[in-house]
Amino acid sequence: MHDALSQNLRHLSSSETVAISTEAKRRQAAGEDVIDLGAGEPDFDTPAAVSAAGVAAIQAGKTRYPPNIGIAELRRAMASNLSSLSDGRPVDPERIVVSTGSKQALFNACFSLFGPKDKVLIPSPAWVSYPQIVHLARAEPVMVPGDIEWGLKVSVAELKRSADALVKGLVLCSPCNPTGAVYTAPELQSLAEWAHERKIWVIADEIYRRIHYGTGPAPSFLDLPDELLERTVVITGVSKAYAMTGWRIGAAVAPPKLAAAMAALQSHTTTGANHPAQWAAVTAYRDPKVDKDVTRMVAAFRQRRDNLVQRFRTGVPGVEFVEPHGAFYFFFRVDGLVGESGPMTGKEFCLRLLQEHGVALVPGGAFGDDRWVRLSYAASDREIDRALDRMIPFMTSLGRGAG
Ligand code: PMP
Repeated sequence: MHDALSQNLRHLSSSETVAISTEAKRRQAAGEDVIDLGAGEPDFDTPAAVSAAGVAAIQAGKTRYPPNIGIAELRRAMASNLSSLSDGRPVDPERIVVSTGSKQALFNACFSLFGPKDKVLIPSPAWVSYPQIVHLARAEPVMVPGDIEWGLKVSVAELKRSADALVKGLVLCSPCNPTGAVYTAPELQSLAEWAHERKIWVIADEIYRRIHYGTGPAPSFLDLPDELLERTVVITGVSKAYAMTGWRIGAAVAPPKLAAAMAALQSHTTTGANHPAQWAAVTAYRDPKVDKDVTRMVAAFRQRRDNLVQRFRTGVPGVEFVEPHGAFYFFFRVDGLVGESGPMTGKEFCLRLLQEHGVALVPGGAFGDDRWVRLSYAASDREIDRALDRMIPFMTSLGRGAG
């Protein structure tokens, strides 16, 4: 990076997931028939009632600065939504800080909690922005490889192995991007107990909580006893479950002192999240019609997952993948296939698949392990089928190695 840039950016690199998507779009614009299963956003439109509420908010003049911490109506709507997802357990709206997407909520939390000399554990493979955000706080991310036999999740044993006295935080994503794995309630409880004992802060990224293929929403830190939540921040938002990625509304639920610090921090960066979009999000949480839309979208994701898993199993038997229980990602292993000079890497696989067959996926290297590849099934059945019609013969044509 250029000499003129600050030390603050010394670890900064632009997102590899965005890079693939940009290349896919470039090829599409040039007239190539490229199927993009790289992007991490729902293909559905924002529910109509939500869009209408956004327009109405603009017309009603909700166009001035919002309260920095978020409008009271949205904080209350989020609190009651989170409470209903956790069997009525009360959630205090005063602990909620509304942000410009859950990404800003994550940034606020990491920047407020961590700094030089602190270490932060991140189970790996991990969403690209976690280590970057930790670096921006000038703390050190410590990647903790998940167990292949266990959906690439981590247990206390793995965390213990990587933890020393400098560890101050743990960022946990469930349902997980990029793997689709979901931590069970007892698994969350044992990680929470361990973190509590060691006074480690947990940042629980639960942005995909509603997109869960078990019964009900995915298990949450908000289902755990109060004492385990003393040092926990839960990240939530409307982007994924409500198909509202462009509205940029997310939030953190945090203990009062931290919530105040995060609000103060964002008062100097964004002055709060987009005001009319906050009103649209109130409707997302409150309107029963929208809740039905969410249920319908989750059912569609489940259907696509079932179809994908079934075609993958029969089309390329023996190719390992993580059993997807939530989010809309399918994570499969390519190092058992033979590449140009040995075991295939995620990068080589994705490059050849894009160049030779016009399908864009994301190499696992972007998430910390390039033996894998991520496919996003937030796309129509037809697109997924067309992509598999290209991928399966390509994969079958490759030799099988020892990997
Ligand atoms: N966390 C995870 C795991 C994600 O995949 C994403 C989006 N790709 C985000 C957070 C950020 O979402 P947003 O800022 O749109 O709420």
